[in-house]
Amino acid sequence: MTGLEFNDRVGAIPVYPAASTYAFDGDLVKLASNETPFAPHPKVLEAVEAQLKTLNRYPDPAKSTLRSRLSDRTGVAPGRIAIGNGSCELLLAGAEAMLDPGAEVVYAWPSFSIYPHLAPLSGAREVRVALAEGDVHDLDAMATEITVATQLVLVCNPNNPTSTHIPASEIGAFCERVPTHVTVILDEAYVEFQTDDDPDAGADLLAAFPNLVVLRTFSKVHGLAGLRCGYALCSARLRAAIDAVRQPFSVNSIAQAAAAEAILHSDDVTKRVEQTIVERVHVESGVEELGLASPPSQANFSWVDLSERDEAEVVRKLGEAGVIVRPGDGLGGPGHIRVTYGTRAENERFLEALEAAL
Ligand SMILES: *Cc1c(COP(=O)(O)O)cnc(C)c1O
Repeated sequence: MTGLEFNDRVGAIPVYPAASTYAFDGDLVKLASNETPFAPHPKVLEAVEAQLKTLNRYPDPAKSTLRSRLSDRTGVAPGRIAIGNGSCELLLAGAEAMLDPGAEVVYAWPSFSIYPHLAPLSGAREVRVALAEGDVHDLDAMATEITVATQLVLVCNPNNPTSTHIPASEIGAFCERVPTHVTVILDEAYVEFQTDDDPDAGADLLAAFPNLVVLRTFSKVHGLAGLRCGYALCSARLRAAIDAVRQPFSVNSIAQAAAAEAILHSDDVTKRVEQTIVERVHVESGVEELGLASPPSQANFSWVDLSERDEAEVVRKLGEAGVIVRPGDGLGGPGHIRVTYGTRAENERFLEALEAAL
């Protein structure tokens, strides 16, 4: 034993659930982290390579090129765009900047695994609101949990891990009910994959609600999870507060260059989304044929209800077949698995391994 001491908050912060790996003799099928199976666009790889020669320099602290392209793409002024080392950094820094000890954070559960980190980081109190029928956010129940102590509300749409989606019109109606001292973060990590609503409908609400923040990432549809880059469309005050609590050069120069190039290729994004939707239909019907239910997905993954089967055993058997999925237990939904859509060949291997595991 050493005499090291840590503050009380550290013990309260949960461990982020990571995918397990298995000894498997062959190509692993990685369907556990909602990554895209497609490599980054060739022009993005060129931009990365060009950037390598300037690695002796610090990255641009203002992230000017990426910021102005995001502004062109979204119509939001550059001063109201915060860029982070992954959107997770913006959640963590945002919470640090906004939450006081004793404040309340309201979010749905099950939802994204980083949300349970936010309250203990700052000594705030969290209020988890169970999803409604159909694994969707219960916005009515969330609105009734808001008190004078509430500082932050998180809405994940489409929701990770359940893949469900609520229309922007309902989110707008919810924002009407939220007092202006409360920040609402609308986490749109999977927004490109939603087909029930215009992907920009959430961001369109920004004009009406100054306390709304729209959070997006380059990790999913753009295929840049390994570089870490995300952004928030928010108030200039929140952007400044996020900058105040984090280190100055947190978004590295390669991530900035890659994201600035990726944003120019919306045709490629459309193609990726179309391919993902074809795989979504394939996996959803394959799962249904095996007699299992999953809520209709608006994302690049399915949330499969294993009904009475032993989740750990199914996950283990899939792992032994080289197919890595995420157990629902660590995500707040025991008795489920979350499976990301891969290539057609990967999805076939998943469906075959699942059939064998049942
Ligand atoms: C993957 C994901 C993110 C993105 O995280 P990054 O830090 O940008 O990689 C954010 N929110 C949700 C709900 C996610 O699933």
